Amino acid sequence: MAGEYIPLEDAPVYGGQLVRIEEIIESLTKNHPGADVTLVQRAYIYAAGAHQGMTRRSGEPYLNHPLAVAGILCDMKLDVASVAAGLLHDTIEDNPEVTYEDVAKKFGKEVADIVDGVTKIGKMNFSSATERKAENLRKMIMAMMTDLRVILVKLADRLNNMRTLGFMPEHKQSAIATETLDIFAPLASRLGIHKIQTELEDLSLFYLEPAAYSEIRLNLSAGRSDRQQYVTEVIEYLTRRVQEFKIKARIEGRPKHIYSIWHKMRDQNLSFDQLYDLTAFRIIVDSIQDCYSALGVIHSVFKAIPGRFKDYINMPKANGYQSLHTAVIGPRNTRMEVQIRTVDMHNYAENGVAAHWRYKNGGAVSSEETQRITALRSILNWQENLDNPDAFLTSVKDSLAEHESIYVFTPAGDIKDLPAGACPVDFAYSIHTMVGHNCVGAKVNGVIVPLRQKLQNGDIVEVMTSRNGTPSRDWLNYAASPRAKARIRQWFAAEERVKAVDFGHEMLEKEMRKAGLPKAKLANQELLKNLGYANLDELNAAVAFGKQSIRQIMQILAPEKFKPETPAEPRHPAGHDAGAAPDYARHILVSGQSDIFTKLAKCCSPIPGEPIIGYITQGHGVSIHSATCVSLAGLDSDRLISASWSDQQEQLFDVHLQVRTENGPGLLLSVLNIISPLAENILEAHAAEDAGGDGVMSFVLAVKNQSQFNSVLKALKEIPAVKRAERIFPEKA
Ligand code: MN
Repeated sequence: MAGEYIPLEDAPVYGGQLVRIEEIIESLTKNHPGADVTLVQRAYIYAAGAHQGMTRRSGEPYLNHPLAVAGILCDMKLDVASVAAGLLHDTIEDNPEVTYEDVAKKFGKEVADIVDGVTKIGKMNFSSATERKAENLRKMIMAMMTDLRVILVKLADRLNNMRTLGFMPEHKQSAIATETLDIFAPLASRLGIHKIQTELEDLSLFYLEPAAYSEIRLNLSAGRSDRQQYVTEVIEYLTRRVQEFKIKARIEGRPKHIYSIWHKMRDQNLSFDQLYDLTAFRIIVDSIQDCYSALGVIHSVFKAIPGRFKDYINMPKANGYQSLHTAVIGPRNTRMEVQIRTVDMHNYAENGVAAHWRYKNGGAVSSEETQRITALRSILNWQENLDNPDAFLTSVKDSLAEHESIYVFTPAGDIKDLPAGACPVDFAYSIHTMVGHNCVGAKVNGVIVPLRQKLQNGDIVEVMTSRNGTPSRDWLNYAASPRAKARIRQWFAAEERVKAVDFGHEMLEKEMRKAGLPKAKLANQELLKNLGYANLDELNAAVAFGKQSIRQIMQILAPEKFKPETPAEPRHPAGHDAGAAPDYARHILVSGQSDIFTKLAKCCSPIPGEPIIGYITQGHGVSIHSATCVSLAGLDSDRLISASWSDQQEQLFDVHLQVRTENGPGLLLSVLNIISPLAENILEAHAAEDAGGDGVMSFVLAVKNQSQFNSVLKALKEIPAVKRAERIFPEKA
């Protein structure tokens, strides 16, 4: 199937030909008089150095490729920065000694960013793209490109690669052609770059469906002279008629491209002979007024086919395309398609987005242009029906509200779609739960970063894992994806259950030893059934969490030694001091469960809202400490367990507050006046003077939660005379 691409009648100038830097400079100077072509000259020399000694599969020097790409960009009349980037587009990827920084230093950030963007697209893995995935890929390419010239350079790159695809082995030819048809031709189409789109499609078809391609081509050339005559006839006739109405017009008849013919044959199940409109006629005029006048002429001399008139001038396509379309029964009684547009519209139809950079000499992009680009970016979000104006508006709106998602890459070039604000932890969990659990570090674009770092569109993310790595509670604070959060919580819940099971087991064993009972007695189905547990692990966990009294177990196992508790209720909290507030349990979730017996530690008296942590006590349930409590350091870390405040709290909590002020009359009263409306209640208030002459006031306040207490602190700190306001812990004070 390998073979040479036979250029179409309207094949571009540079196809497969050697382009010289002089031609590029000349073309640039012509398109952009006064442009700084030295940038392009320097880029040429730099690229020559970077690719020195490299050859393409064809055997020609590698440099011919960037030169050809630059040539295509010149054809599109793009600006100096685009052309320079075209020359440099493969340097970062192909030469390890060339870096973004180096390119930026030598050619400026604008050029370097384009090269960098092209390099990133080059690293993406498009293989085995399903239709939906292809749509996502196209979206993503648009989302990550702040500068559309990146895509233009990439399209030029792809076009040259397609033109020289004959040198590739066959299996690569079809893979690359498929990718072109799935990703790049639609991109060109959505950007309105008709010229590149049609050539990419024809080239892809040539490699993917060589038989169909040759057949259509053969048929086209077989009927060629006849068709040519018909086309000439029509053009002459149309020219006469519009001249009668004093409309200045250029009329052309162009054969449709092979891919569109093939597409139509396949979609409508037609043979080549059944196709009537192989030629599209265009009437190109000077003004919009003339467009409608010309339309009137056409409709007055030919019979219009109902339902085929489209006014894309009043309602442009999403990609900005404007024209009048109609179909009529033309000479020889055949159907004929006619497009009517102004010169500007025609230029845009051929070059689409690229037309924007045509007359720009590297100056700043105007806000109007930026808006236009924003609208264009939405095009890729477009699923279908470009003709529907409502959909267009919705899509533009969506694109303005976009960025709920970011797209990043694996080192292999696969794409991951993450919520905005995602960090490497989210990325790790998006790969696999175990990659998340074992994640110990991350590299973004090759640089080691903290796991909390926010990822950006287009980042290449690499996760470092260790078999011993485990999640950190911290991750819950910066993970953005529900999936990662759920997995992290799950891990802690599972880990804590294991801890609780182990610890409950230990506690039970100890009691058994004390009572002189063999521990084998615990594996007793009767006992488990009696107490309502499915298995021994459940029983052990219940013991650890203080949900199950050990005494009750002993009493069942050795009734002769242990007198019954009164009354013997299953799952009764284990013995605990009566002083601990038993009601607190319903405000605290331990390891996500609300039915665990807890008490607040006296060393720190945590208040709702502040971060807390549980500690499995010996038979007294779980004591709850403030996460910042200093006494935690002295505790067995294996018995620490996650705890959080549940949402419903009606209860008030006592908190001790100390305020230091400059000494002055009436200060206690003003402080009380501040606190009183903010706290639920003031239970105690003391004022004294310390040796340095400062006023020292202490209060016991009743508050609902930490944020209420914080609002008290904040208000106090706003009083100029207040030197300090802080929470104190009386037990330690
Ligand atoms: Mn390339």
